[in-house]
Amino acid sequence: MSFIIDLSPLLKQFKEEARRAIEANICVECKQPPTFYSDAGRKEYYISGLCEPCLTRLAPMKMIFLILNELRTKTWNSSRCR
Ligand SMILES: [Zn+2]
Repeated sequence: MSFIIDLSPLLKQFKEEARRAIEANICVECKQPPTFYSDAGRKEYYISGLCEPCLTRLAPMKMIFLILNELRTKTWNSSRCR
């Protein structure tokens, strides 16, 4: 359980970096102005701060982050119930 709690600053940093990259209109990964192939890719940029080529490359890693985030939310909810 403790390893999930230890990951939360990492997730927070990840989100903060994404927010800053979006504000600067660059990709969080390649530091270039973002490029998109699709509308879905554009939408995704405003969530993760990743341009579509980087997103495609890092998609498996992003899935892990999403799963961890989900787990963390569930941990929070269950600890609040007790
Ligand atoms: Zn990129």
